[in-house]
Formats: sequence, structure tokens, C-alpha cells
Amino acid sequence: MKPGIHPNFKEVTVHCACGNSFTTASTKDELNVEICSACHPFFTGLSKNVEKGGRVEKFNKKFNRKK
Ligand SMILES: [Zn+2]
Repeated sequence: MKPGIHPNFKEVTVHCACGNSFTTASTKDELNVEICSACHPFFTGLSKNVEKGGRVEKFNKKFNRKK
């Protein structure tokens, strides 16, 4: 690499809001993130938006219609 033009990459610890922490390479001293691979729904397979019923159910509930 050409000296003097590259940022100083170093190993830093990333702290997530879920309590998980891991290391990565960055120019910053410390990283804080709100979501990481340990708690993101895509990786956990869990959905935060649970199925709340379809449009018909919503309509029936809104107008107190019996099924
Ligand atoms: Zn996390």
C-alpha cells in the first residue's frame, strides 16, 4: 500500500443495543450499533411484526361484525 494515504484501520469492539459485542475493523475507536447480526430479525428468523390478521379481520373488528 502507498504510505500516508490510507486510513488507520484497527480492530475495534462493536457494542450492540442487545448486549452483543464483536470485533471488526474500523478507523473509529469504538462502535455502538442499535442492531446486529445476533438480534436482527433476518438472522434470528423471528419476526418483530407478528401477524395481526388480514384486512377482513380488521374490518370486522372495527365494525363489531360477527363472523
Ligand atoms: Zn444486537
